[in-house]
Amino acid sequence: MRPLIAGNWKMNGLTGFSAALARAIREGAPPVAAFCDLLVCPPATQLAAVGAILAGSAVALGAQNCHQEPDGAHTGDISASMLRDAGATAVILGHSERRANHGETDELVREKVLAAVAAGLLPIVCVGETDEQRRSGRETETVGWQLSGSLPQGFTGVVSYEPVWAIGTGRACEPPQVEAMHGFIRQELMRQFGREAGAAIRLLYGGSVKAHNARSLLSVPEVNGALIGGAALNADEFLAIARAAAPR
Ligand code: PEP
Repeated sequence: MRPLIAGNWKMNGLTGFSAALARAIREGAPPVAAFCDLLVCPPATQLAAVGAILAGSAVALGAQNCHQEPDGAHTGDISASMLRDAGATAVILGHSERRANHGETDELVREKVLAAVAAGLLPIVCVGETDEQRRSGRETETVGWQLSGSLPQGFTGVVSYEPVWAIGTGRACEPPQVEAMHGFIRQELMRQFGREAGAAIRLLYGGSVKAHNARSLLSVPEVNGALIGGAALNADEFLAIARAAAPR
C-alpha cells in the first residue's frame, strides 16, 4: 500500500511561518512523492493561503477538525464543505486533543466522519489509549471501542493509531507495541467492513515520530504511513520522515 505521510500543524503558524513551511515542503516534495503521498494540515485560518502555495504540487491539503452539521447556527465552527471550499481534501477527526479538550465522543466523531465524506473530504480518524489504559492492560479494548464507535458503515477513509501517552512526549511507541496494535486494528477493520475493504484502509501510526525513529516505525507490518505533529513544523524533518517511507 502506498504510504501516507501527514503533518498536523495543530494551533501553530501565522501567515509568514505557514507560507515558508509550505514552500519548503513543496520544494522538497518531488523525490518523496515518487513513493508516498504527502499531506499537510495547517490551522483553518491558513488553509487558503497554504492551499495556494501547494496548488499543482505533490502535497495535499487537509484540515484538523470539522463540525458535524453542514451549516447553521454554530458560532465559531467550520463545516466540512467550508473546508473543501477552502481547498482541503482531507480532515483529521477524533484527535485525542479534541477528544480530551472538547469532550468529543466516538458518536460525535462518527457524525463528523459522515459530514466529511458527504463534503468530499477524506477522513483521517484518530484512535489511541491513554497511559493509564495501557498500564491497566486495556489498550486493545479501548481502541476496539473507539473503532466500532467512530467509524460509520462503509468507512473507506484512513485510521491513525495515536497512543495518547506518545503524543508530544518524545516517547514513541516501541515497534513491537505498534505491531501488536496495528495487527489488532487491521483484524478489527476486516471484521467491521469485510476482508477486502478492511485490508484496504490505510493505517497510520502517530506519536513522537521523528526523523531518527521513522524508519523503524514505518517498517512495522501494517503501518501504512505516519501522522506527525511536532516534527511536521520543520520541513527538513518532515521530509526526512517521508524519505524513511521509501520502499526497501
Ligand atoms: C499528533 O498530535 O498527531 C502527533 C502525532 O504529535 P507528535 O508527533 O508531536 O507526537
